[in-house]
Amino acid sequence: MKLLNDVMEQVIRRNPGEPEFHQAAREVLDSLEPVAERNTHWLEAGIFERFVEPERQIMFRVAWVDDTGKVRVNRGYRIQFNSAIGPYKGGIRLHPSVNISILKFLGFEQILKNSLTGLPIGGAKGGSDFDPKGKSDGEVMRFCQSFMNELYRHIGPDIDVPAGDIGTGAREIGYMFGQYKKIRNEYTGVLTGKGLTWGGSLVRTEATGYGLCYFMDEALKDSGKSFKGSTVVISGSGNVAIYATQKAAELGAKVVALSDSNGFIHDRDGIKLDTVKKIKEVERKRISEYVKYHPEAVYTENCGKIWDIKCDIALPCATQNELDETSAETLASNGCFAVGEGANMPSTPGAIDVFLKNGMIFGPAKAANAGGVATSALEMSQNSMRYSWTFDEVDAKLKNIMKNIYKASSSAASEYGFDKNLAAGANIAGFVKVANAMYSHGIV
Ligand code: NDP
Repeated sequence: MKLLNDVMEQVIRRNPGEPEFHQAAREVLDSLEPVAERNTHWLEAGIFERFVEPERQIMFRVAWVDDTGKVRVNRGYRIQFNSAIGPYKGGIRLHPSVNISILKFLGFEQILKNSLTGLPIGGAKGGSDFDPKGKSDGEVMRFCQSFMNELYRHIGPDIDVPAGDIGTGAREIGYMFGQYKKIRNEYTGVLTGKGLTWGGSLVRTEATGYGLCYFMDEALKDSGKSFKGSTVVISGSGNVAIYATQKAAELGAKVVALSDSNGFIHDRDGIKLDTVKKIKEVERKRISEYVKYHPEAVYTENCGKIWDIKCDIALPCATQNELDETSAETLASNGCFAVGEGANMPSTPGAIDVFLKNGMIFGPAKAANAGGVATSALEMSQNSMRYSWTFDEVDAKLKNIMKNIYKASSSAASEYGFDKNLAAGANIAGFVKVANAMYSHGIV
């Protein structure tokens, strides 16, 4: 009989129809069993039950007018999951697939990820089912302003500091920040991912992709391997994928594939990142355009097939559950020895089993992609000080944070009998700090 079975059953009962949240909670609770055994006072204080229940869930109407004059209505959310170690912090996702289950899974994971950074930030996530794709700048602005007309009352630099995520880049953060400033009449670091001339931190744009490579570099070194001379496949072609590509190449790897939700490009000579940046960051077009500039590359419709490409290291950087058990088997049989998650929960539980069974290095999202939120927290510090660090200063801090996350995850894994299972180690290292704080704060 597992000690945390009742907690999991309660998650399922209380949150019906939320499969992504159940998946995330199950994965974490499974690895917390030995922690519960050693800390029965946490069981008695209901720490585990409280940990899986968000402190606050906000859901609201977002009405805006499109370019034809038609009124559109979307739904906005903010899940303020846990504030035991600092103000809530987590991104805003704008994507048609957004629902309460996805945001709860993301907010839940964010608690542990933020804790792992070693910085004082709690866990949250928000977003809307609005799709910025294909919308004009004016439409995106009107949506963001309407979204902030409600959100502003729930956030603040010492309360909750949202950031970007899928569909929320510098443009969207700009419109949201502008509206917050207008309503509140104050200039504070209430959002991160801001433009560099108005409070943003250097390295924030690159941070998640760079951090992923710094984390994997530590893990690879520990197993006598390296990015140098390795072939790498990366899914997605958004913020995380682009800067993971850049850093992996700087560390001596050859990145041969990128994707979007339609298909993937395979360039055996190595992806030319300038072309990708032009297509995705400037023109906001599809990744298929790449072959027009580089006819030697091949475009394949069906993004899931990207994992059929033979590689040494796979970095899923697109979205949740994009890498399933079958793809994991293919990676393993093609000799892939490491998988690092840039996206949140991109590997299904079946895929993770395959990685571990085959002795592959597996960098779980909450540890491997924590560089983004860590740099966001550095942006908060700079905003509070009204001061900016240089690119090299922030980059050095990021590298150090990622090294420490690797160390904390691998030592927690050994201490609690999970051997080289970094996923379990990251869950435990992140949880212990939050649980200690919750216990100290009493039953609230
Ligand atoms: P972006 O919106 O910049 O990019 C997402 C990319 O993934 C796009 O290229 C998108 O293609 C692609 N994509 C979406 N669904 C699929 C799919 N099913 N198969 C293949 N490609 C797909 O988002 P980010 O790069 O910011 O985020 C990516 C992931 O990383 C998310 O899981 C996010 O939560 C996570 N993350 C991001 C952080 C950050 O700092 N940005 C921090 C930590 C985690 P298309 O244009 O077709 O939709």
